[in-house]
Amino acid sequence: MINTSKTINWHTSQWQQIAQFLEQDRFPHALLFEGIKGIGKRHFAFQLAQMLLCQGEPTDSGICQTCSSCEWFLSGSHPDFVMLEPAEGKKLISVDAIRQNSQKVFKTSHQNGYKILIIEPADAMTVEAANSLLKTLEEPPEQTLLILLTDKPARLLPTIRSRASRLKFTLPMAEQALTWLQGQGHDASTAKRMLALSLGAPLRLQGDAEEISQILLESQQWWKDWRAMLSRQMNPVVVAKQCAKAEPGLFLNWLETLFRALIETSAQAESNEKLPSAANYEVLFPGLNQVIQQFSLPSLFRMRDNVVELSQRQQSSLNWGLQLEALACDCYSST
Ligand SMILES: [Zn+2]
Repeated sequence: MINTSKTINWHTSQWQQIAQFLEQDRFPHALLFEGIKGIGKRHFAFQLAQMLLCQGEPTDSGICQTCSSCEWFLSGSHPDFVMLEPAEGKKLISVDAIRQNSQKVFKTSHQNGYKILIIEPADAMTVEAANSLLKTLEEPPEQTLLILLTDKPARLLPTIRSRASRLKFTLPMAEQALTWLQGQGHDASTAKRMLALSLGAPLRLQGDAEEISQILLESQQWWKDWRAMLSRQMNPVVVAKQCAKAEPGLFLNWLETLFRALIETSAQAESNEKLPSAANYEVLFPGLNQVIQQFSLPSLFRMRDNVVELSQRQQSSLNWGLQLEALACDCYSST
């Protein structure tokens, strides 16, 4: 479960919006949280749900953490709360899952209070599933709340988007994010590298201190290999073989960060202007400035697109090693 006692310092305007809904006594039946991965949408949704369900004495945060409702919530067994995501190993949320879960939450309230269903990622719903959800939204039962979370709002049915009140989540300022990460127990240098690898979204990298340090160590090795490859000291096939041992999701996230860093640094060099970059890439890719001179911007964009495409294909892909090899060879021959 999410630790809802942790506050996130860049969600102030979103909380103000919630406070307004509550003050004006017009709390929506459906909320749509939009924003990139790792920005804290789920954390916010859980805090909001626990707040609405809490039956204790009012506190500043609206969450007492000790009433029986909070205890149920924190143990993941609150009868009026459901978190719905794709089943393990699946990418989509089926119509059956929507039917079962909306019935489970919206039919009966155990506490005479709110009934809350969170769906993440909402864009994973099949068209059939989304249509079934729409029926619930047409005549929402009293005191029900549906929270949809997505980083790809354009993939939702327009009818779903128009029925939900939108809350947009944006990237924190780098300083804010670094302060927060350090508040989670990471030292300043780790926090900087984590933020760079998270494309500025502080909750994107998950794990305890040991796991994070392992990820950062691996990233260091990947950069060493790629840098050597780009300066023609290492064969792309060998580099691809090394990287294929990594966890694909993690490696693709690193690769995406690398290309974003190459593109931003190279665009900055061409325009002579300072771009507001969410993170200082040099901490993650030392010597990046020398590497960009070998590429043209169009070829960087093309390779970045290949990485994004590979990310989308990867989950169902069997020949991960071969695809990585093709990508590494493409990079090698573009220098
Ligand atoms: Zn409580």
